[in-house]
Amino acid sequence: MRPNFDNNQFQVDLLTWYHREKRDLPWRRTSNPYYIWVSEIMLQQTRVDTVIPYYEKFIATYPTMEALANAEEEELLKIWEGLGYYSRVRNLQAGVQEVIRTFKGEVPRTRKEISSLKGIGPYTAGAILSIAFGLPEHAVDGNVMRVYARMLEIDADISQAKSKKIFEEGVMETISHDDPSSFNQAIMELGATVCTPKKPTCLLCPVQQHCGSFEKGTQLNYPVKTKKIKVKQETIVPIAIQNEQGQFLMRKRPAKGLLSNMWEFPYLTTDDPAKTSMLQTFKKIYGFSLSNVQTLSPYKHVFSHLVWTIHPYYANVSLSEIQELKEEYRFVSREEIQELPTAVPVLAHLEQLDQQIKREQ
Ligand code: SF4
Repeated sequence: MRPNFDNNQFQVDLLTWYHREKRDLPWRRTSNPYYIWVSEIMLQQTRVDTVIPYYEKFIATYPTMEALANAEEEELLKIWEGLGYYSRVRNLQAGVQEVIRTFKGEVPRTRKEISSLKGIGPYTAGAILSIAFGLPEHAVDGNVMRVYARMLEIDADISQAKSKKIFEEGVMETISHDDPSSFNQAIMELGATVCTPKKPTCLLCPVQQHCGSFEKGTQLNYPVKTKKIKVKQETIVPIAIQNEQGQFLMRKRPAKGLLSNMWEFPYLTTDDPAKTSMLQTFKKIYGFSLSNVQTLSPYKHVFSHLVWTIHPYYANVSLSEIQELKEEYRFVSREEIQELPTAVPVLAHLEQLDQQIKREQ
C-alpha cells in the first residue's frame, strides 16, 4: 500500500459515493447466490445493458438451480442466443448440477469449494462470496485492476497472469470488512463508470484524494500492459440457401470447439468472397449449384481471438439438384430457424435476409 494511504477514509468515500450513485440493476436487488452467480457469468465480456433482459428472462425461465440443472442443452443455448461465449452457459449448468450433487443444493461458502465448480474462476468466486454471503474476498477483474493500478500506482504488467496476485493482495488490504459486498461492487462500478480505460473522469471521482496517479497526472500510464493478444482474421462466406418450398438449409456445428452445437447457414472460408469464385468453390464442396444468387452487405464479428469478416449471400436451390445431405444439415422454415440456437453472426445475416425478402414481396 502507498505510504500515508488513509484506508478508513478511502472506504468511507468510496462507499458513500456507491450508495448514492449506484445503478439500479436487477441482480443488485437480491442476495440469492444462484442469481448472483448467473449475473456474474453473463457479465463476463458483456455490457450491463445487454445483460439485463437476458438475466431477467433466464431467471424467469430457470428460477431455481434445479430448473437449470434439468434444462435441455438446445433450450439453454436458445435462451443464451446473442450473448456469445456459449461455453459459459454450459459450464454454469454443469456447476449448478455439481452444487446439487455434491453440496446438497447449497452454493458453497468457501473459496476453495466454490472454485471447484465448473466455470468459476477466482473473480467469480470472490464476487459470489462477497456479494451473496458478505465475505471479505477479493474479486479482481480488468476494471478492478485498472482502478488499483492507478490509485496505488501498481506498475505490474496486467497481461501477465502472475500480476493478478498483486492486485488481489491490494484489494484484501483495503476491503471493507463491514460491507465487502458493497465494497467490491463499488470498485467494479467505479472502474466501469468513472475510472474508464481511455478517459477517466477524475474530477468526479470519489477517491480522487487517495489516488497516486491523479496526484502526479500519470493516470493514463496505468495499467501497464505489454503483451498484445494475437487476433486471427478469417473471411467467412455464409449462404442462406432457400429451396422451392421456402425452407432454408441449416447446419449444426460440431459438439466441440467454437460455437459448438449452434445452428448456422452453411459457409465457406475463403480469401475470395466474390460471387463467381464463391459459386465455383461451393459447387466443388457441396456438389450442387445455386441460382438467383444475391450479395448482401458484409459485416464483422469479433470473438476473443478471432475476427470474422463476413460476406453473406442469399441464393436459391432446387431440391432436385441435391443428391444427399449429411446428417448435420437440415432444411427448415424461416419460423423454425427462430426456434434453433443460432449465433450472433447468423442473426445479423437473418436480419438482412428478412429485409431482402420483404423488398421482393
Ligand atoms: Fe481513476 Fe482518476 Fe479516480 Fe484515480 S482519480 S481512481 S485515475 S478516476
